[in-house]
Order: sequence, then structure tokens, then C-alpha cells
Amino acid sequence: MFNKASFLTRLVASSVRVSEAAGGIIKNVMAGGDLKIVDKSETGSGYDPQTEADRRAQYCIVQSLQKHFNNITIIGEEEDTTACPEVELGFNEDVLLTDRLISPELAQIKENEVVVWVDPLDGTSEVALAVKNKNLALLEQVTVLIGIAYKGRPVAGIIHQPYHSTSGRTVWAIKGCGVHGLVPATGNPQKTVVTTRSHLSESVSSALEALKTRNLADNVEKVGGAGFKVLKVLEGCAAYVFASAGCKKWDTCAVEAVLTAAGGRLTDISGRDIRYEPDVQLNNTGGVLATALWVKHQEYIETIPQEIKNNLPEIASKK
Ligand code: AMP
Ligand code: MG
Ligand code: MG
Repeated sequence: MFNKASFLTRLVASSVRVSEAAGGIIKNVMAGGDLKIVDKSETGSGYDPQTEADRRAQYCIVQSLQKHFNNITIIGEEEDTTACPEVELGFNEDVLLTDRLISPELAQIKENEVVVWVDPLDGTSEVALAVKNKNLALLEQVTVLIGIAYKGRPVAGIIHQPYHSTSGRTVWAIKGCGVHGLVPATGNPQKTVVTTRSHLSESVSSALEALKTRNLADNVEKVGGAGFKVLKVLEGCAAYVFASAGCKKWDTCAVEAVLTAAGGRLTDISGRDIRYEPDVQLNNTGGVLATALWVKHQEYIETIPQEIKNNLPEIASKK
């Protein structure tokens, strides 16, 4: 069955299992208690933690996917990884069943035509805080993100949430084949907007204020991770607003694929599509705006003040 499916379907079927293996690694490192945290940020640019879980999970994801598919381009968040013995060579059978639904264009994609964007642990700041404050509820905000781009745009995505309920969950989508692992909300009388917990800035706050005045943000919830915020949007929040630079392509590729398959939208805060070619700038300098299928994306775009948009161009200016 595996060998008969198209390459994209096989890649997603593997990635679902690989994301779950990465989730297992994260849980093991957490249970071991020694996170070996290092700060990746350049001096003076805030705090950007990396743990042993980020390093091991990325190693496992890259090794596992390359064993099956040696011609794919993988771009992962972590430059430094830690070798670990876990290699996942299984595949998810439910994904293979969707192969008959994928479009002819997606069915003919070849290994050397995709870019796989990997965030082995989205929400590391929340992990660090959970341990520091002994507040394990924050671990719900951790996700493993594997996004697949073709011709610069997302065509499939996997969001694994290891600490959801007792055994975690995996939400995945292939373009045109719906969302699996969660039933997207179709409306909500309250418009709740989710935003960053750890990277708040003046421009994020100003954008939120503007949305409040137009009744597009009845309340604001500050939570960690791009993966978790998009799961919140899928489950009843109206939008994820981040009017600031700093979020990267590996944060948005998988979640854009999943959200789009559910009828939602993800662009930068000026309404521009985010590109995922292999040589693209890594930083989403235009910010991030993700909206649920039941709200008007364009209304959110139009309400964010032009001055904020002007300060968040698509490409970072050279100093
Ligand atoms: P947040 O919404 O702050 O949890 O961020 C979502 C994702 O974007 C996380 O992976 C963050 O690490 C990343 N991110 C956002 N802003 C920054 C920044 N200023 N520096 C580094 N990473 C950032
Ligand atoms: Mg991340
Ligand atoms: Mg990460």
C-alpha cells in the first residue's frame, strides 16, 4: 500500500509518525529533567532558548525522513542537533487512504521538488517557563511542526501536540483533502484573538487595539507557539495576530497548510502570501495573520493601521 501511493502522500504518512516520534523524544527529555538550555539569541536581541529536546527531536525528524526520501530538501530550525538512536520508519495508514483524493497536480510531485520545513519543538519558551515555574499546564502549548512546500507554497502540514489530553494528538492536512485529527469550529459569537505570550511589542499591541475598536477582537489571549495558536484558531478563536517580525518559515509552513485545508487563511499582516522556496528569507518580516474560516480575513487586514504595515515589509532591509 505504501509503495503504491504518490510521493506526497507517502511523505505525509511518514511525517505523521515521525512527528509523533519527536513528541516522544520531547516527553523523554522532559521526564529526564535536564533540559540543557542554551540561549540562541544574538547579544541584545532577547532570549531565544533551545533545549536538548529541540536538538534531539530535530535529529530524529531529519534522519527518519531522509532514510525514506533521500532527495528531499529539509530546512529545520536548529543548527546544532544531538544525535539520538530513535529513527521512525513507520507510516500512518489513514494518510495513505487519502491518496485517491489528491489532485493530479499534487500526485505527480517528485522528491526533489519539495521543501520540508521543520520546527522540532514550537513553544520552547513555554517549556523553559513550565520547568522554571513548575507549571506543567503550559506544556499544552508545545507542538512539533512539519510543513511541506511545493513551488513555494504549502501543500501539506503536520501539527503534533504531544501534551494534548493523555496521549497527545496529531492534526494533518494535504491540500484539497480536508483536515484530519480535529473538527474545525464553524463559528463563535465571541471573537477571541490569540497572540504571542513571550514576544509582545508595541506594534503587536497597537494592531490589537485597532482590532478591538472595530469589534474584531472581543478579547485577547496570550499563548505560546505558532502551532498552538493555529490550533486555537481551528477550535474557535477568530484570529492569530502577530504584527512583528521574528516568527520564521518553519513556524508557519505546516500551520498554513492545515489552516487553509480547514477553510481559514494565513498571510502576513499586509495580506501578502508567505513564500517557502528553499532560498527564501527565513524570517516572516511581514508578521503573521491567521484567521478562522468563519471570519473575514480581509477585514482584519484592512483594520491593521498602514503605519504598522509600513514598518513590517516583506523583505528585511539591509543594514
Ligand atoms: P510566539 O507567538 O512568541 O510564541 O512565537 C511563535 C514562534 O515564532 C515561536 O517559535 C517563536 O520562537 C518565534 N518567534 C516569534 N518572535 C520571535 C523573536 N522575536 N525572536 C525569535 N523567535 C521568535
Ligand atoms: Mg517555533
Ligand atoms: Mg522551535
